[in-house]
Amino acid sequence: MDPRLKEKVAIVTGAGSVGPGWGNGKATAVLFARHGARVLAADINLAAAEETRSIIEDEGGRCTAHEADVSRGGDVEAMVERCLAEYGRIDILHNNVGILEVGGCVEASEESWDRVNAVNLKSVFLTCKHVLPHMERQGGGAIVNISSVAGIRWLGVPYVSYSATKGAVNQLTRSIAMQYAKKNIRANAILPGFMETPMVVHSLSQTYSGGDVEKMVEIRNQLCPTGKMGDAWDVAHAALYLASDEARYVTGAELVVDGGLTCSIGA
Ligand code: NAP
Repeated sequence: MDPRLKEKVAIVTGAGSVGPGWGNGKATAVLFARHGARVLAADINLAAAEETRSIIEDEGGRCTAHEADVSRGGDVEAMVERCLAEYGRIDILHNNVGILEVGGCVEASEESWDRVNAVNLKSVFLTCKHVLPHMERQGGGAIVNISSVAGIRWLGVPYVSYSATKGAVNQLTRSIAMQYAKKNIRANAILPGFMETPMVVHSLSQTYSGGDVEKMVEIRNQLCPTGKMGDAWDVAHAALYLASDEARYVTGAELVVDGGLTCSIGA
């Protein structure tokens, strides 16, 4: 059987990981490569992208590590040009970059609000702005945006900028899906629930457990209907499906990957 992403070229943003272990973007970049894609692994931290590249190349795959801050238009343009120069096309745009800063409207600073909006939302606008013309010229493509169930539910911790930007990513995804439906370009969002990734340790352990990582993991596990958080591979497998031609009739969808969390906390 042919690899599921045979002959495809993918850009994965945030393809490194904020700390040791597997972040969603890193796992997705590696899984895409295992399924035949050539991958441009972009990250603000070049060393993190290089680590992903070396994992892929050690497994016999093709990958280019590229430094980019995807909240900046110039960086995004250069990222797209690099991908075209290396691989000649872009079939898959996987928008994984996202940051989380805790705080409600009163506690969060204006700077924090602007930063999270730029990194979580403006980045998706920018990558789509620069990639869509190439997908259109090629006759198709697939965009996968990493959102969060925080965009559709209250999860017990106030992080207004994160929730608002993820909600906006959902609607941005639907808009793109509709505008480009007749052009064979699909856009879908993945809404992960509580996942055990380096980002969570980095951004949330203070909030849940005063910095005690083991305790935070225990608390978050207990909040999940399955009794356990998901991990980066759960997100990566969902992305693999949406990026592949198996999902050719799936566009404008929100794929919730949360072990039933949203069922347990209602609308
Ligand atoms: P991660 O481990 O933090 O990886 C993201 C990578 O993106 C990091 O290497 C980070 O670099 C990089 N990055 C940050 N800002 C960037 C920018 N402006 N331009 C380019 N790269 C940038 O995070 P993850 O665990 O893979 O999570 C990724 C996505 O999953 C996010 O969109 C997040 O909201 C979503 N998500 C996660 C969970 C969860 O529970 N883990 C749940 C729902 C949704 P630095 O290390 O330098 O910051």
